[in-house]
Amino acid sequence: MTKPRRACIIGHPVKHSRSPMIHGFWLKSFGLEGSYEREDVTPDALEAFLRGLAARGYVGGNVTIPHKEAAFGTVDRRTARAEALGAVNTVWFEDGLLWGDNTDVTGFLANLDDRAPGWDDGLDKAVVLGAGGAAAAIVAGIKERGAKRILVANRTAEKTEALIRRFGSVVEAAAWPPSAATFAGAGLLVNTTSLGMDGKPGLDIDLAGLPAQAVVTDAVYVPLETELLANAAARGLRTVDGLGMLLHQAVPGFERWFGRRPVVTPELRALVEADIGR
Ligand code: NAP
Repeated sequence: MTKPRRACIIGHPVKHSRSPMIHGFWLKSFGLEGSYEREDVTPDALEAFLRGLAARGYVGGNVTIPHKEAAFGTVDRRTARAEALGAVNTVWFEDGLLWGDNTDVTGFLANLDDRAPGWDDGLDKAVVLGAGGAAAAIVAGIKERGAKRILVANRTAEKTEALIRRFGSVVEAAAWPPSAATFAGAGLLVNTTSLGMDGKPGLDIDLAGLPAQAVVTDAVYVPLETELLANAAARGLRTVDGLGMLLHQAVPGFERWFGRRPVVTPELRALVEADIGR
């Protein structure tokens, strides 16, 4: 008899992660016997933990804050997407080698495709607020869909410069806080800063410069409707919350570890929404 497969989320801290709920939902819906567990691993222990992943009985896992860059340096092989980002959030074994991918790009794109179909049709200019880890994945996704200009506004200018070095001249630096001129002609606005998240200051910016057909989305998903999304909706703009990005980024990992491709269903979304509301 084959042993049930085990995967895990590796982070520090990791107790608030909703990934076990997501993968647990899929395991149950497929009637699979596997498990998806939490592993709180400190930064100094990460490399040894990943090297010993198979010996601990895991077929792979997710890697989250603060380990995504360190995991990039530890895996044996990386996908092109992970290479482009310098960060890994999903690991698995192939022929005894530990592979690393970054599925945040897929998560971001699939969420917009699902909730705002056509968002990238003829997309010329996009504005990204923030220049951290989420921003890198989101810039990669927008670039992949053919945007001609991606304006990045971030409090710390050096981080924007790093994105320009990574992704080239499609990325341009914009002032922080963003001005009406930055928004003029943009088809997409994405918040990737942690502003607006529960417990953090809000993101109160004037959206008057955005065209009426612009789509506004937030990487923050606690709360589901951030101040930014509420302001955008009040202006009649199309809005997409960040929860779908979290749900969709989980799909490729589950498929690699458990051999079945899961689907982001309304039931899964409702389950996680209820947890966020608690
Ligand atoms: P990160 O690498 O730490 O980046 C944080 C960003 O927020 C930086 O651009 C930082 O600016 C900015 N920021 C923080 N405090 C600020 C303030 N007081 N004023 C102005 N800017 C401020 O974090 P991350 O991993 O990119 O995550 C960012 C957010 O995205 C988090 O809320 C996270 O939960 C969310 N996220 C969601 C998903 C999803 O699946 N939906 C995936 C990944 C991340 P500086 O560079 O100036 O510090």
